[in-house]
Amino acid sequence: MIALFLALQIGSAAMSAPIPTFIVVRNGGNVTSVPVTITGGEATVRADVLVRALKGILITGTNLHYTLALPQGRVDLIDGIPFAKRDTVTIPLTRSPQVHGGQLYLPFQFVTDVIPRYIGGYVYDSPQAELRAFDPNSAGRVASSAITPAPRQPASSTAVASAPRSVPESVKAPTPTPAPRAATASRRTRKLVVIDAGHGGPDTGMRGPIGTPIWFVEKDVTLSVAKKLAAVLEARGMDVLMTRTTDTLIALYDRGRIANANHGDVFISIHCNAPGSNTAAGARERGFETYFLAEAKTEDERRVQDMENESVKFETGANAAKGDPLSFIITDMAQNEHLRESSDLAETIQTGMIDVHPGPNRGVQQANFAVLRGSYMPAVLVEIGFGSNQSEAAFLSDQANQRALARNIAESVLAYLGHYESRVGAQR
Ligand SMILES: [Zn+2]
Repeated sequence: MIALFLALQIGSAAMSAPIPTFIVVRNGGNVTSVPVTITGGEATVRADVLVRALKGILITGTNLHYTLALPQGRVDLIDGIPFAKRDTVTIPLTRSPQVHGGQLYLPFQFVTDVIPRYIGGYVYDSPQAELRAFDPNSAGRVASSAITPAPRQPASSTAVASAPRSVPESVKAPTPTPAPRAATASRRTRKLVVIDAGHGGPDTGMRGPIGTPIWFVEKDVTLSVAKKLAAVLEARGMDVLMTRTTDTLIALYDRGRIANANHGDVFISIHCNAPGSNTAAGARERGFETYFLAEAKTEDERRVQDMENESVKFETGANAAKGDPLSFIITDMAQNEHLRESSDLAETIQTGMIDVHPGPNRGVQQANFAVLRGSYMPAVLVEIGFGSNQSEAAFLSDQANQRALARNIAESVLAYLGHYESRVGAQR
């Protein structure tokens, strides 16, 4: 995980100076002492005390959210998540902010780095253990030799810190396979559809059908449909990027990153469904449904969400991304802006499929899919049917049916993009 790697690097830079037992915040004539506490073996400061010293307020929101509202700007953070947000900039933290005894504790990095670098108006003087306000219009005055500049982030992290919409090359999964696409010059005019074939490699996805020897393997069907979908969209003038074109495992969170790094306009993940219980009753389940990203509301939505998120267990080493905190923040702060579009896209695809799928139409659903969480664009997950049901498994395995589904989904994507274009255009 690149994010963790960066956090560790920043950590070692920030922690190279000895940790004082308290720091002084000097703000004109005001001098406030802020104790440095060791919690869980790491230096931290109490958020309320630090914020008060900086003449700001600590806002406690819902769902473990906090905002440091300072005169120079705001930083948003979440208890237990090692990332903070300053406007659209995601700031990797050396450790998560944590609540102990009803108080929010911030990593010491807030003093040495986050406040000076991302909020501004202060410099941290490490030898003096002093966080000192200065007039940004006469910054030259503080350029004393005693002042240690805030630790610079390694160059490779710049894209994460300053441009969250562009992901560094190294963040991409090892084998994203772009389909042939037009020259970069035409990028602005052509839409890019990111197609994600669910599962792959050791992660087979669901296998079925129930009650017969297993012959239906989700990862193969999703790839086959995804390739057909790509072919139709390309034929219709779209740029297409597939997260995988072979039987390989791509980490769930990398799928969204691949989409982001290439500035996708929509993200479509293709999957096959299976009932929660492997029983004769379960074998009868069938139909298609389309998900967009939001909290799962029903038991059934939670079942599908847990099933598709299971893929995480196949991800090891560099691809491991369990509970990826950055994605959590993205879910919370960035994906929200695409919620409406994602829901529209889901509706368009789901309604379209009625024409080609024997059904039943199980409707548009919402769930918190890891694969959708990392995407900064309208994103949906299509469950094209139950591979656990014998007749539906047969239907989904048929090449002509796969082509029909692919054509149908492609038409919906085109309709959605056209609709979206006209709406955005109308606002200009
Ligand atoms: Zn799946």
